[in-house]
Amino acid sequence: MIDTLLKAAVRDIADFPRPGIVFKDITPILKDAKLCDAVVESFIERLEGLDFDMIAGIESRGFLFGLMLANRLGIPFIPIRKEGKLPSKTTKQSYDLEYGTATIEIHTDAFAPGAKVLLHDDLLATGGTLVAASKLIEQLGGQVAGFSFVISLDFLKGRERLMPFSKKLISLVH
Ligand code: 5GP
Repeated sequence: MIDTLLKAAVRDIADFPRPGIVFKDITPILKDAKLCDAVVESFIERLEGLDFDMIAGIESRGFLFGLMLANRLGIPFIPIRKEGKLPSKTTKQSYDLEYGTATIEIHTDAFAPGAKVLLHDDLLATGGTLVAASKLIEQLGGQVAGFSFVISLDFLKGRERLMPFSKKLISLVH
């Protein structure tokens, strides 16, 4: 049901950000307030029974539903950002991209050791970003309680890379 609505809303953009790439554009979802509500409620249904204290979202599209969900659940939201954006002391992780590397950061005092963190992003592709984010959570003494994303591109096998951190993966669209 929700996956049919989302598949209808998400646009394929050819040759973005580079020739040969088909980019899944989630911005049409954001124009439909009822669909945004349905997305949040679908995540909540699928998260039933999972023990977590807070949600960390990946810049920038992971902030959209990550924050909506955290607010709806009444729990903290933690931003994980690209290098150089967070103002206080940070902990960093670098990871390989197809061309070059990227670095993400979290505030070192984002949570106390022992916290159970749900990692959220808009889309799972190769899993590289969420593997780096999982390492950040573990570096600070936290535990990855699970992963949630709106879309998972299953043919890229990101799921297998995330398994060592948590086996709870929630995706609304495959
Ligand atoms: P990965 O690290 O899993 O290869 O890539 C996932 C990251 O790249 C996510 O942060 C996601 O926002 C972004 N990303 C990669 N491809 C797409 C796409 O087709 N659509 C959207 N919305 N994000 C993408």
